[in-house]
Amino acid sequence: MQIQSHLGSTIAMAFDECVENPATYEYAKKSCERTVRWLKRCKAEMERLNSLPETINKNQLLFGINQGCTFEDLRIENMKEIAELDLDGYAIGGLAVGEPKEDMYRVISAVEPYMPKDKIRYLMGVGTPGNIIEGVSRGVDLFDCVMPSRNARHGHLNTWNGIININNKKYERDSQPIDPECDCPTCRNFSRSYIRHLFKSKEMLAMRLCVMHNLYFYNTLMEKIREALDNDEFNGFKEKYVDLLDKRI
Ligand SMILES: [Zn+2]
Repeated sequence: MQIQSHLGSTIAMAFDECVENPATYEYAKKSCERTVRWLKRCKAEMERLNSLPETINKNQLLFGINQGCTFEDLRIENMKEIAELDLDGYAIGGLAVGEPKEDMYRVISAVEPYMPKDKIRYLMGVGTPGNIIEGVSRGVDLFDCVMPSRNARHGHLNTWNGIININNKKYERDSQPIDPECDCPTCRNFSRSYIRHLFKSKEMLAMRLCVMHNLYFYNTLMEKIREALDNDEFNGFKEKYVDLLDKRI
C-alpha cells in the first residue's frame, strides 16, 4: 500500500491472492478469507496514508477484488462481504486465467447483482473485444489487458472486420492501411505491405506502429460502446460486433 501511495496513482488495488485455475473448493474458500483479511488491512493502511501531510495523492481510491474461482457461492459470499466495506470500486479478479469463456461469463453474471450499483466495476485482465462487449453487457465498466499491445508485437491486429495477421503472404503487395476504417497515425501513414516488410526485416518500428494501431482500436472500441449505451443502441452494437471482432480473417 505504501508503494502504491508513493506512485500516486488515481486507483490503488488491494492485495489479493489470485488462485490458480482449477483449484479445489476447500483451497478457494480459505483463500477468499485470507484475501478479505488482507483487504481490511489495506483499507486501514490506505486511510492512514491518505491522512499524512506528505502523501502525494491524498484522494487515492481503493478498489477491493472479488475472488472465489469459478465457485458461484464463494464469489457471491465474498462479494457481499467486501461490499460492506464501502470501497471506492470493486474488481472481479481471478478470471481470464485459462478457464473457458463460458465459465467467466457465468461467474460475472452470478456476482454482478451483489456489486454495489453506484461504484465502479472493474474486470481484471480482460480481454478480447468480444470479452469486453460481453463484460459490458453484464454490467462491467472498466477493463485492463496486455492483449492489444502483446498481440500487436506479433503482428496480430484488430480491425472492424476481425483480426488480421500482418505476416501473411497475402499482405506482401497490399497498399491499403491495416484497417481502412481506422484514423490512427499508423493507418493514416503506412500500408500493410510496408508494415509487413518491417516485420520481415526485424525492424523495431513494426512493433511500435502495430501497438499504436491496436491501442487506438481498443480506445475507439470503448468510445463506441459508451456511445451505443448513451443512445440506447448497445444490444444492436453487441449483436453486430461480439463475434465479428474476435474472428481471425
Ligand atoms: Zn489504425
